[in-house]
Amino acid sequence: MFSYAPAPESRSVVEIASSYGLFIDGAFDPSKDGNVFKTVNPATEEVLAEVASAGSEDVDRAVDAARRAFQSWSTLPGSERAKYLFRIARIIQERSRELAVLESLDNGKPIKESRDVDLPLVAAHFFYYAGWADKLGYAGFGPDPKPLGVAGQIIPWNFPLLMLAWKIAPALATGNTVVLKPAETTPLSALFFADICRQAELPPGVVNIVTGAGDTGAYLVQHPDVNKVAFTGSTEVGREIARSVAGTGKRLTLELGGKAANIVFDDAPIDQAVEGIVSGIFFNQGHVCCAGSRLLVQESIAEELLFSLKRRMSTLRVGDPLDKNTDIGAINSAAQLARITELSEIGAQEGAERWSPECQLPDRGFWFAPTIFTGVTQAHRIAREEIFGPVLSVLTFRTPAEAVEKANNTPYGLSAGIWTEKGSRILAIAGKLRAGVVWANTFNKFDPASPFGGYKESGYGREGGRHGLEAYLA
Ligand code: NAP
Ligand code: MG
Repeated sequence: MFSYAPAPESRSVVEIASSYGLFIDGAFDPSKDGNVFKTVNPATEEVLAEVASAGSEDVDRAVDAARRAFQSWSTLPGSERAKYLFRIARIIQERSRELAVLESLDNGKPIKESRDVDLPLVAAHFFYYAGWADKLGYAGFGPDPKPLGVAGQIIPWNFPLLMLAWKIAPALATGNTVVLKPAETTPLSALFFADICRQAELPPGVVNIVTGAGDTGAYLVQHPDVNKVAFTGSTEVGREIARSVAGTGKRLTLELGGKAANIVFDDAPIDQAVEGIVSGIFFNQGHVCCAGSRLLVQESIAEELLFSLKRRMSTLRVGDPLDKNTDIGAINSAAQLARITELSEIGAQEGAERWSPECQLPDRGFWFAPTIFTGVTQAHRIAREEIFGPVLSVLTFRTPAEAVEKANNTPYGLSAGIWTEKGSRILAIAGKLRAGVVWANTFNKFDPASPFGGYKESGYGREGGRHGLEAYLA
């Protein structure tokens, strides 16, 4: 096997301040009560910066700023709003190297992914919605659709900047203003984005970023002057938000968890399927809501496929996220590592067989080796609960009907994958899967023009595409 010399991206391409304020009404200010929290690099546990923690008065101030900005932003011609969004998209492209390094430092994801997946998709999302801003009358929501007002938006830590783009781009294109709360462990790229808003001369108050923990998010959701809540995160918190918004007249979209089935039929091209399985579960350390975390493989090819899969897993490089050859970076936080570790231990206790390739993990930081469990049954917790880490549960099936039944036997319904040589089988199976996105002979492919969202406990509402406009229009 080849060995690779270290090839680290330089971290000096991005400047990180020692402390950051809240971005409200176009300026960075400390929080009212002076509270701060630290964000760390999960690959080294080094503190990257101290960040202001927004309390209720800060959230009030941010919502007020957004309300004031809404007056003029919502009445600008769409073609004018588009100019700002195009400008933001271009600046993101120009500064993408800085942003990619920053995202990898704060989140732990490999630079290969932040540079080649996250950042291009972030820019594409702003370009895409910039294009809609002056065409809303032709989007199928009536001749003159109106924005909702102030959107309170809450995002998780797994794709910090990409989730920000999914939230902010459609909201601004449709004439809403926003208050966004990034996740506590990954606030830095959102604060960098705030600086891009200033660089683009976006009017103050159109975008406000309030950093903080879950409480900050709860204040924002409950604020009486917020018209729309958009949340991406766990089903548990999503449920809480749905309860607190019920009866208030606020509009709500929820993008929650998943436990996707990746189904491999006996006629599938094995090597291609193995690549799809690997990217399906090990992309972004498996911190992906639509990860292919349940492999359903047809019994007759299970042995052959698992042999190839294990061989391929043995070549995955785990380590320094800034190294250009790294495939699997750091787990985002100690808390997430503890959850992955606990569920994996339960998997072994419940009788599934655990396997990881030999790999040396760094001494400091949060790490988890790529892992598969075979002999998993539908009753096992690792087959039902979202692990949100680099852990794959393998189940087998004999007939297509059994594959469909097992795939749908989950409270979630965000995504699924089908691997087969037959187009007719793809169509037949895809139509029976209760999942928002079904990939065929590929996995984890995203495009701003394509709507994304869930069934059942994976949430409701769609982001992306023409559908994504609807959530921000009256
Ligand atoms: P989480 O705990 O639900 O956190 C998501 C966001 O909500 C964070 O910003 C969090 O702040 C905030 N928050 C926590 N409690 C809140 C409350 N009571 N009210 C308002 N906001 C609150 O989820 P996570 O563990 O960070 O993220 C992983 C989960 O997100 C997984 O289950 C994954 O499937 C899901 N996810 C779904 C999608 C999708 O598109 N469907 C995409 C990505 C992730 P703190 O950071 O301070 O806790
Ligand atoms: Mg961090």
